[in-house]
Amino acid sequence: MSGDESSIAHAAELIRAGRLVAFPTETVYGLGANALDAEAVARIFAAKGRPHTVPLIVHVDSIAMAQTLASDWPEAAEILARRYWPGPLTLVLPKRDIVPDIVTAGLPTVGLRMPAHPLALALIRTARVPIAAPSANRFTELSPTAARDVPSALADCVLDGGPAEVGIESTVLSLARAPLLLRPGVIPLPEIEKLIGPVEIAASVTAGAHPSPGLHLRHYRPTTPLFLIAPGDPVPEGRGARLRMGHEMPADPLEYAAALYRTLHRLDAEGWDWIAVDCPPDTPAWAGVLDRLRRASAAVTHP
Ligand code: AMP
Ligand code: MG
Repeated sequence: MSGDESSIAHAAELIRAGRLVAFPTETVYGLGANALDAEAVARIFAAKGRPHTVPLIVHVDSIAMAQTLASDWPEAAEILARRYWPGPLTLVLPKRDIVPDIVTAGLPTVGLRMPAHPLALALIRTARVPIAAPSANRFTELSPTAARDVPSALADCVLDGGPAEVGIESTVLSLARAPLLLRPGVIPLPEIEKLIGPVEIAASVTAGAHPSPGLHLRHYRPTTPLFLIAPGDPVPEGRGARLRMGHEMPADPLEYAAALYRTLHRLDAEGWDWIAVDCPPDTPAWAGVLDRLRRASAAVTHP
């Protein structure tokens, strides 16, 4: 369904009726439900096969709407929301009681974000409720960055807003206590630190460098085995696809992020034996891409 006024009105009606709508955001496509309706949110977990222990991000159309969901709005939240919203930054804050426990996986905090895609904002505004939305894929599969990559069985309707411009999931920053980075995205951490001071990095972020068994590490994985290799390293046996920066993939981190899931979706469909990706540099600008590649990889041969 395209993004004209009547499609948005129809999608907003579905949201208000407790149904699921897949919609574009600038990061990836989301699978949305009324965040204030626990039964509607339960449908998201069922459709995705997502464990109830992984909280959802709630999408808002304004700082004012965010403040109806957060019980505390510290100065750092105000500074960051004014600088980055609408945009790919999720702020985790203490939640108010109106946010159902299922949304936050029972946590006393809620992740809030104002998305930058005009269709996402129009949907929230028209539905007049905050929209809880994880990525519109089955649990552990690749996030969709185009409407055609959304599995059609997931949602009651899919809004098509073109390719996602950012291409990887939002930066997640907790301000519930001292600032803590829970998930890197395309916003370099030093930029955030310039505005609010030092930010700790959660162990789950750095753990990406040392793969261990566990669901969380498989979060962003294509079905084709992906190997993260040092540039120039030998590639595995068999028929494979090689992704080098500045060749098959862009040399710029923002352009690389925008192309990443689209490329992995395409290579998955092409049926290669493996995908070998040259490891990007371990710098703040590449942190989001590197995190997703580490989680997507079957093996890391480069530290
Ligand atoms: P997804 O919607 O698939 O991009 O996943 C949302 C991610 O946001 C989760 O995996 C968490 O990392 C993070 N998140 C959302 N809400 C919270 C919260 N209340 N506390 C901590 N992390 C959160
Ligand atoms: Mg996801």
